[in-house]
Amino acid sequence: MITGRCLCQAIRYECTGEPILIAHCHCESCRRQTSSPVTTFVLVPRATLRFTQGQPKEFSSSPGVWRSFCADCGSPIYYRTDRRPNDIDLYALTLDDAAAIAPDCHVHAAEQLPWFEVSDDLPRYPEGSRSDPPLRYGPKQNL
Ligand SMILES: [Zn+2]
Ligand SMILES: [Zn+2]
Repeated sequence: MITGRCLCQAIRYECTGEPILIAHCHCESCRRQTSSPVTTFVLVPRATLRFTQGQPKEFSSSPGVWRSFCADCGSPIYYRTDRRPNDIDLYALTLDDAAAIAPDCHVHAAEQLPWFEVSDDLPRYPEGSRSDPPLRYGPKQNL
């Protein structure tokens, strides 16, 4: 079972479902919400997520998209979209054991910052869809 919390511990959750996908996202909206060059999501079946303490505050970051955070400490908690109503995307660094997960891919790699790279060999998809051909596997070769 996956368990997690925000930084101040006002919010805690548990998830009985298996991860559907674990993805690094380079999009500008994620960068702005987390103030970080990339963030990582664990997609889980929405019905299997339960908040055991507190509730995140939600806001709409674009039409049909909601992001949430702890109203006390500001930690981002999840992302959800009307395009995938049965999923919820946990910000992976809220997990109690973030070291235990194994990312599958990068998305929105077309927006990746020029000064930032990750040294894995995973596919880099240009946008959010994994049906598009990846831009490349692994880091940019000019590094
Ligand atoms: Zn908090
Ligand atoms: Zn993103």
